[in-house]
Amino acid sequence: MDGTTLFIDGRWRSAADGETIPVVDPSTGETFSALSRGRAAEIDDAVAAARRAYDTVWRRVSPVERGRILARFGELIQRDHERIAELECRDVGKPLAQAQKDITAASRYCEFYGGAADKLHGETLPYEAGYTVLALREPFGVTGHLIPWNYPAQMFGRSVIASLAAGNTVVVKPGEDACLSILAMVDLAMEAGLPEGVLNVVTGFGNEAGAALAGHRDVNHISFTGSPATGTLVQQAAAVHNVPATMELGGKSPQIIFADADLEAALPVLYGALVQNAGQTCSAGSRILVQRSRFDEVVSALSARFEATRVGPAMEDPDVGPLISARQAERVKAFIERAEQSELPVAAVAGTATGPESGFYVRPQLFAPVDPANELSHQEVFGPVLVATPFDDEAHALQLANATDYGLVAGVWTADGGRQLRMSHALEAGQVFVNCYGAGGGVELPFGGVKRSGYGREKGMEGLKSFTRIKTVAVHHG
Ligand code: NAD
Repeated sequence: MDGTTLFIDGRWRSAADGETIPVVDPSTGETFSALSRGRAAEIDDAVAAARRAYDTVWRRVSPVERGRILARFGELIQRDHERIAELECRDVGKPLAQAQKDITAASRYCEFYGGAADKLHGETLPYEAGYTVLALREPFGVTGHLIPWNYPAQMFGRSVIASLAAGNTVVVKPGEDACLSILAMVDLAMEAGLPEGVLNVVTGFGNEAGAALAGHRDVNHISFTGSPATGTLVQQAAAVHNVPATMELGGKSPQIIFADADLEAALPVLYGALVQNAGQTCSAGSRILVQRSRFDEVVSALSARFEATRVGPAMEDPDVGPLISARQAERVKAFIERAEQSELPVAAVAGTATGPESGFYVRPQLFAPVDPANELSHQEVFGPVLVATPFDDEAHALQLANATDYGLVAGVWTADGGRQLRMSHALEAGQVFVNCYGAGGGVELPFGGVKRSGYGREKGMEGLKSFTRIKTVAVHHG
């Protein structure tokens, strides 16, 4: 990759002024590639190309053919799976096995949405005698996609593939800290037969290319995944032209363990849902709430897992790799330092850490017991920091679980069927997992937040519908 990373109207090109952004390997801190620094002018070109492709080509391609192209795209991702997974691993600093799963998921989105493209339909509506009323389900036209660095391949799958399947043409602004897997997949989309101009990618900084896309008057829908603060800026920019948006924001997701839970089943899941991608997962299970009678037992079992955690370079496939950047590592370490200064009890710290000092490593840490008022109980750390808090009964568990501004995912561990359902209804979250947890998984499962975690749904059939709008046609025929 030599900095020619803008893909507009079916061609690779550089930014007009030739400026680039360095791509850094988080495992070593070394620069190994470069991205074009696209700005408003390049976004204008990309949106114009997407508009042309929508008007002249893509809207005339039948849903079944759209689906076939996307299904072929998925097969090509599988064919090049190892190569793209290694890129994702190096670029994000994500342990190799986790990167491999992400590439499989990207391919699976192509299979799922490719298969669904010709099954998406409108309705006829009952109305007065002498009328036939249709609710036509139509694409928006041009959709803009702002993607973060933590799961580039998966996010590309769940938003861009769904939008293409629904019949839109797209402009993507991926995260500037990691997006090489997306760039690698673009060539495969063309090989699969996607017409020129249907998929456009503009690399660049958020406050330049990202802001230009969010505020573009000729974009018809924005899909944003990222932090709540940036989400607010994106909504403000989109509102200027009345452009609808989907907001997939952060989380502080609780895992609630009742005394009757099957701990043997729960423990590896509780641990995995936090350390996955070094805690840089919006749906990370970053708060553990445990019924008091089993609190010490859970903390001690989790501590043993934390202490045995291997932290190291992503390509060595450790349990936990580096964080994405020096800035992100400093941010997480500052949370840990503040916790230590306030004498928050440390239950465990990951034992072994290898990898060069220039890499962005943070050893996972478990704090317990943690007061619900402590910032670690309600702020998104976006790093490998877990807090555990005891509760007394179901009402107390619910009150603690719902006590943050976020509402993305929740996990409930209990053998009591009534409680499983009561908790599922009462938890303020977009997804509830009972006796399991699905951070990031489940292409078929609608995903999204409530409260500060955002609105709108991606993934599953609901995600496909969210890239369409309804047009009502009333025909009076007497
Ligand atoms: P971010 O908000 O900094 O950036 C997200 C994207 O927006 C990037 O492409 C960035 O370049 C772009 N951007 C930045 N400023 C912009 C602006 N002014 N206008 C338009 N675009 C702009 O987020 P991040 O640091 O990349 O990701 C971490 C955050 O994302 C966390 O809060 C995490 O919880 C959240 N996240 C949420 C989900 C979800 O599905 N709910 C998934 C992954 C990450």
